[in-house]
Amino acid sequence: MADNNFQFLELPRQNPVKTEVVIRRRNYNEIYGQYDPEQAGRQAGRCIDCGNPYCEWKCPVHNYIPNWLKLVRDNKLFAAAELCHQTNSMPEICGRICPQDRLCEGSCTLNDGFGAITIGSIEKYITDKALDAGWRPDFSAVTESDKKAAVVGAGPAGLACANILRRHGVQTTVYDCYPEVGGLLTFGIPPFKLEKRIVLRRRALLEEAGVRFQLNCSVGEDLGMRELIDEYDAIFLGMGTYTEMQGGFPGEDLPGVYQALPFLISNIHRQMEFSGRRRDFISMRERRVIVLGGGDTAMDCSRTAIRQQASSVHCAYRRDEENMPGSRREVRNAKEEGVHFHFNVQPLEILGDQKVEGVRFIKTRLKKTDRRGRQMPEPVPGSEFVMEGNCVIIAFGFRPNPAKWFSDFNVKTDRQGKVLVNRKPYAFQTDNPKVFAGGDMVRGSDLVVTAVDEGQRAAAS
Ligand code: FAD
Ligand code: SF4
Repeated sequence: MADNNFQFLELPRQNPVKTEVVIRRRNYNEIYGQYDPEQAGRQAGRCIDCGNPYCEWKCPVHNYIPNWLKLVRDNKLFAAAELCHQTNSMPEICGRICPQDRLCEGSCTLNDGFGAITIGSIEKYITDKALDAGWRPDFSAVTESDKKAAVVGAGPAGLACANILRRHGVQTTVYDCYPEVGGLLTFGIPPFKLEKRIVLRRRALLEEAGVRFQLNCSVGEDLGMRELIDEYDAIFLGMGTYTEMQGGFPGEDLPGVYQALPFLISNIHRQMEFSGRRRDFISMRERRVIVLGGGDTAMDCSRTAIRQQASSVHCAYRRDEENMPGSRREVRNAKEEGVHFHFNVQPLEILGDQKVEGVRFIKTRLKKTDRRGRQMPEPVPGSEFVMEGNCVIIAFGFRPNPAKWFSDFNVKTDRQGKVLVNRKPYAFQTDNPKVFAGGDMVRGSDLVVTAVDEGQRAAAS
């Protein structure tokens, strides 16, 4: 196709079609559809190849975005898939769930008034369609080495690390305590953002590439770290962060108060029907649900409660909408699906005698910024009020949960419990030269794409 640098003037940004709200409120399918080749080519053709691809810089794995957009425009799907996989071990997953508005698309030159290129949707299109058409990541040139590596944790950090290790011929085994791979991709993020068949397809590709998985195996319990150290040349830890943050206010232990992750996981177990786990299901059907928090986890809990047919879902956050930590797109989707938002409110107490009856809040206003540049909320005196509800989900985020055995193997942590790693000589190496670490357990709760980036760079180290 000939270059038309002004296509962005004639053709507006257009996302793939979204399922209608009445339908998506009743099922867990992904809500975004897929481009056809013509739509993908036309949307990719809007890129003006500005010469200073801020999108690439803002993307944590520095995808070659303008280059693969051009290949899609020219209908060279397999070449685009090849290029995508040079920088990203799971482009179809990042394309679905990266907060693009804060990353690549947020810094697209066209975002200034013309509508950014739909980079995430095109990235998803490339890999989905190429795999459907028979393309596979090419491991044929890999020279097998006699080196062996163990990866602890099959989340995005661990899977990305395993992918790069295999590309270098390293014999790689991934251990995870869960019955399926994916970490929070599988046991956290709900299927309406990422259907589980997509994660299973990535698992199959890694297995085809020679990665071995040992699931239902908790390192430190079922298998000692000592055995891994003795057997392998290097070990990568990608174990995530799993200590749930508490509010520290009265009533948190009342029946009817749930932590976000057990709620989401119970729903996923029900969807995936892992044997013996259906009884743990936490249902919000016909309940008046109050979700506390303003990040991706709070959005996911709110939208899951909607799909479970809660009678109402109210999401309360202590800053304003502008300062919400989650993706703007997911807040919009939650609003469309019927979640009621309450900004600038801080919970003081969960009320109830034998069970939850409501939450007492105080209004807040934003004052000076914290160390990270975010505005801090302060209570407005005399502004307390009660919101009625019979179920509360606490979604305040996660802190690290360093294993007790870390210190036995010279894996050091900071005061918050995040694993300390070096930049030099080898990136992501802990104080134990055989042990590397990355993802949420190193940087704290963050994003899939940053976990992928760290897993990949640790493998390269
Ligand atoms: P994890 O994904 O947590 O994986 C760690 C793995 O290690 C797990 O499988 C665990 O079972 C395993 N493990 C731990 N200890 C052991 C052990 N001792 N032995 C064996 N295995 C072990 N990010 C986005 O980019 N977009 C989103 O939309 C988004 N939504 C989110 C929604 C929710 C509800 C949550 C909780 C997070 C969300 N995130 C999102 C964040 C993202 O999921 C994480 O940043 C990312 O998964 C971190 O990857 P990881 O590999 O470091 O850890
Ligand atoms: Fe954008 Fe994420 Fe893809 Fe990078 S990996 S181009 S940030 S969607």
